[in-house]
Amino acid sequence: MSSTNQSARFQKLPSTDELLRQRDLQALIERDGHASVAESVRVVLARLRQEIAGGRLDDTALNLALSGLSSAVERQLRQSLSYSLRSLVNATGVILHTNLGRAPLAGAALDHIRATASGYSNLEFDLTGGGRGKRDMHVDRLFRRLLGDDARTADPGSAAEACSGAHSNSTSTIVVNNNAAAVLLALNSLAEGGEVIVSRGELVEIGGSFRIPDVMQKSQAQLREVGTTNRTRVGDYEQAINERTQLLLRVHRSNFEITGFTEQARLDELVGLARRRQLPLMEDLGSGALFDLRSVGINGEGGVLDSLRAGVDVVTYSGDKLLGGPQSGLISGRADLVARMRSNSLFRALRVDKLTYAALEATLLAYVKRDHDAVPVLRMMRLSKNEIERRAEMVVAGVVSARSQRLKLELLDGESVIGGGAAPSAVLPTRLIAFTHADLSADELNARLRGSEPPVIARVEDGRVLFDLRTVFPEQDGVLVNVLSSLAGPRLA
Ligand SMILES: *Cc1c(COP(=O)(O)O)cnc(C)c1O
Repeated sequence: MSSTNQSARFQKLPSTDELLRQRDLQALIERDGHASVAESVRVVLARLRQEIAGGRLDDTALNLALSGLSSAVERQLRQSLSYSLRSLVNATGVILHTNLGRAPLAGAALDHIRATASGYSNLEFDLTGGGRGKRDMHVDRLFRRLLGDDARTADPGSAAEACSGAHSNSTSTIVVNNNAAAVLLALNSLAEGGEVIVSRGELVEIGGSFRIPDVMQKSQAQLREVGTTNRTRVGDYEQAINERTQLLLRVHRSNFEITGFTEQARLDELVGLARRRQLPLMEDLGSGALFDLRSVGINGEGGVLDSLRAGVDVVTYSGDKLLGGPQSGLISGRADLVARMRSNSLFRALRVDKLTYAALEATLLAYVKRDHDAVPVLRMMRLSKNEIERRAEMVVAGVVSARSQRLKLELLDGESVIGGGAAPSAVLPTRLIAFTHADLSADELNARLRGSEPPVIARVEDGRVLFDLRTVFPEQDGVLVNVLSSLAGPRLA
């Protein structure tokens, strides 16, 4: 009995071709192409067949489904053609959020990408001579201006001069895929087959499984640990130096701090030791700021220039952390050492594309012009608590039925986090919008925010949802007004 019903139901289903000939599907085909619409039709029909086979559709339900076939196809089509990578609102207050794409790009960077990547460019072409050019010269010239040709200590009688030849004082920079690649390339170029001395207090793991000992192994250099987790003195490095030693390495701790009974060799002590023993000193800075963090009230975090001026021979840092540019890894330092990295075949494997060069060049130009507000992460860092509070008040005032008993909104003092491997204690004072809902827990609220269009990512603390406008672009404030209004509205069960 039921099997005859079932076969009757199967027969009611149109064929793919019949469905595709329908007028409203023709319109979809014109817009999105025959292949993708046909695929959506097949998916929808297969789903219906499955439901019939599973006995989940009676005649009434089937008729309903058949009458809504074309809109089901349209929904399926929209879903299958929608982007997976989407833009969203970062209301967490974490400026460099690795899960949210780290640094947003400057407008000029996007313009430059569009202008140079939508057609051909002189990526590796010398317009003056007409011959082959080098892709790194597009940004190396800007790094030279920013870091100064003589950024590293220009002490003419120094040992560095003696051991590295005439060009020891010029600073060059190369670009690879990310800072992990930069560290790998630098270690392999400078210390393959030899030993690298690192403090036990700096054997860090950065999110996404970047571990110094592992990268060291891949680079074919041997890790020589010195000191203890909490205390390492310059004498510990000195004692470990032997004929196999190729490099002294300092690593920024990035995502943790050691407090209490601690000691770390000072940078100037390491520089002195490296010069005396004629060894290069490298520093993995991680975030590597090109501006003075003290200008936004963050002390004790040296930038790229501080390290080079102190006499560090090579520094590595990310392009999409404090620098505020595209994902990339930068290696800046003594020209002769950087030249060894450039001629390493690994460099070819780790090189970046024209999009990255375009974005980096435009970002660096903003630094050259001292136009710090053009770089979004710098602008966010420079926002005052007062400005954030003023915007937060406007958002709260804009919420329709803000006086509803369901949604309780208030403003609180709090802290924004730099993130992305700046010191974990590097925080900026801010003003937060905090809210709770009568019918929804903070986690349920958060899930609704993630599901809204565009998604809004917030922090949850102490049973409250928190918005920090420091990381919200002012033109997105309206999105927050709308999403809060809909949460305050009466239609929530
Ligand atoms: C972030 C970080 C890295 C990894 O940089 P990516 O650009 O993410 O590859 C390496 N070292 C340190 C110290 C870092 O902070």
